[in-house]
This record gives sequence, structure tokens and C-alpha cells, in this order.
Amino acid sequence: MRWQCHTCHDWHDGFPGSYSTGAPEVWAQLAKENLETAALGAFNAEFDNRGFVLGNLNLPLTDGEFEFAWGLWVELQWNDYLRILDTWELPGRESRVPTMLGHLQTELRHLGALYPPSLGLEVEVITQPVGVKPLLRVFGSDHPLATEATEGITQARLEEISACCEHFRPK
Ligand SMILES: [Zn+2]
Repeated sequence: MRWQCHTCHDWHDGFPGSYSTGAPEVWAQLAKENLETAALGAFNAEFDNRGFVLGNLNLPLTDGEFEFAWGLWVELQWNDYLRILDTWELPGRESRVPTMLGHLQTELRHLGALYPPSLGLEVEVITQPVGVKPLLRVFGSDHPLATEATEGITQARLEEISACCEHFRPK
């Protein structure tokens, strides 16, 4: 589907299905000596007994089949993080690993003016079948990420989000 971009005013073909940053926010602040002991993967990260996973917060379109996924980093309690690692390849893990609570480690405010601060928001982390990122639900907040995930977004809002994903790169 072609849509006219709010940022460059050009026409873009199709919407990005998802967007995520390459590392938890705290990575930018790590000193060199920390980085030597830190491990950053595509879907998980850790340093100094702090564990992070990349999860999906899905925003369904209110008037269509499309679903946009924010790929967001979440900091978990260390024991919960270890449990996720232990069950990474375990068939049926989605019915064995309980829902966990974590805190967002992605600051979406860096992407234009789409959202108020998101860093530190409490989220539920719901384990999915092997090969699928955990599903996120914003917990106990009226942050727009919470309402957009439950009520969905219009195509106009999807265009706004897509324009930022196409053109802004977090520092
Ligand atoms: Zn554009």
C-alpha cells in the first residue's frame, strides 16, 4: 500500500512491519570496561547480572488486517532472565514459563515526537513458542503504548509511526 510520508512528503511503498533498536538504552552509557564483559545478541543482552530480552508489542490496525510490532528491549529480574535462557529452545515453553514483569529499556521518545517517555514502563513479558519473541503488554499504565495495543491504531497513526521509523535513527 502506498502512503504519503509525513516526514519527507514523498510516497513510500508498504508499511514497515516492525521496528526495533539494536541494544537496550543502557548500552549507550556503558563504559569501555563494562563493554568487555557485556554480551549483546540480536534478541538478548546481559552485563553485570542484568538481563535484557527483546519483545514485541503489537499494535493492530483498527480498520485492516495489518499489525505493527514495536520491538522493545525489556530488563528482567536476573533469575527470570536466566529462566528465559534455560528455556530458549524448549518445545512447549509457552505453557511452562509464567508471565514475568519487566521494565522497558527502549526510549521511543528518540523517534520524533510519537510518544511520551517509555523508558522504565512496567510490562508483562509473555513467553511464546520457540522462535517467536515474547509478547509484551504494558502493565498498569495509561501510556499510549498501552491503549494503542489494546484498542488498535488507525491507518493515519500507522503512517505517522512509519514516517518516524523510516527517517529517524536513535542516537
Ligand atoms: Zn519519508
